[in-house]
Amino acid sequence: DLKGKRAIVTGSNSGIGLGVAEELARAGADVVLNSFTDNDADHALASDMSARFGVTVRYIRADLSKAEDARALVEQAGGCDILVNNAGIQHVAPVEDFPVEQWNRILAINLSSAFHTSAVALPGMRARGWGRIINIASAHGLTASPFKSAYVAAKHGVVGLTKTVALETAGQGITCNAICPGYVLTPLVEAQIPDTMKQYNMDRETVIREVMLLRQPSRQFATTEQIGGTAVWLSSPYADQVTGTTISVDGGWTAL
Ligand code: NAD
Repeated sequence: DLKGKRAIVTGSNSGIGLGVAEELARAGADVVLNSFTDNDADHALASDMSARFGVTVRYIRADLSKAEDARALVEQAGGCDILVNNAGIQHVAPVEDFPVEQWNRILAINLSSAFHTSAVALPGMRARGWGRIINIASAHGLTASPFKSAYVAAKHGVVGLTKTVALETAGQGITCNAICPGYVLTPLVEAQIPDTMKQYNMDRETVIREVMLLRQPSRQFATTEQIGGTAVWLSSPYADQVTGTTISVDGGWTAL
C-alpha cells in the first residue's frame, strides 16, 4: 500500500509513463504527471486519474531536455518518495549520419534528466529514510541494435547511473533500480502496425509476430500495466533489498 507516498513519473502523459502512474495511483500513491506540453488534455488526465483512484494527482509541465526544467520539476512537486525516470525519445540513423542535434537531445532527455531529477529528489528521501528511484531503461540498456547509437548509449548510461546511485544510497532505506522493457504495446507502437502491415502485405498478427517481435522470444508485447506492476513491486517492502540492478520485462529478449 503506497498511501501517503508521493510519486513523480516523468514523461507520463502517454505510454509506459502513464501506465506506471496509473498502477502507482491504483496502489494508493499520490502522483505527479509530467510532459513538455501544457494542454487541457494533460490536466484532464490528472483529474481523471485522481477521480478513479481517490488520490491526489497533479500535472506539472517540464521540458526534460533542459537541466533547469528537470530540477524545477522535483522542486515544484515538493520532492517525492518515488521517482520514476521514464521520459525518452528515439532517433534511428547510422553513426556517421547521426544528427548531432538528435544525439544531444537523446542524451539530455533519456539520460541526463534522470541525473538531474535524482540529484534534487535524494536529499528529501534521505531525510525521510525512505525512497525509490526507478529508471525506465530498455532491453537496449543491456544489448544493442544497429542505427540506435544515441538511444543504446543513453540507456546503457541509465543502467550505470542506476548502479552508482544504488551504491551511494545503500542501507539508507532508498533503492535505485532500472526496469528494462522489451517491446511494449504503447500508442506509439500501435500506430506503426497499419503501415507495417501495408509495407509487408501481412495481416496484423503476422506483422506483430514476424516483424515487430522478431527479437522477443515470447512473440508477445509487454504491456504498460506490467511495467507499472513491476514499479509497484519495486516500491513494496518485498523489494527492500533489491537495489542497483536491472529487471527485464522483455519476453526473453536478453536471454537470447
Ligand atoms: P511515448 O512516446 O508514449 O512516451 C514518452 C513520454 O515522454 C511521453 O509522455 C512524452 O510526452 C515524454 N517526453 C518526450 N520528450 C519529453 C521532454 N522533452 N520532456 C518531458 N517529457 C518528454 O513512449 P513510451 O514507449 O511510453 O516510452 C517511455 C519510456 O520507455 C522511454 O524512456 C522509452 O525509451 C522506454 N521504452 C519503451 C519501449 C517500448 O517498446 N515502447 C521499450 C523499452 C523502453
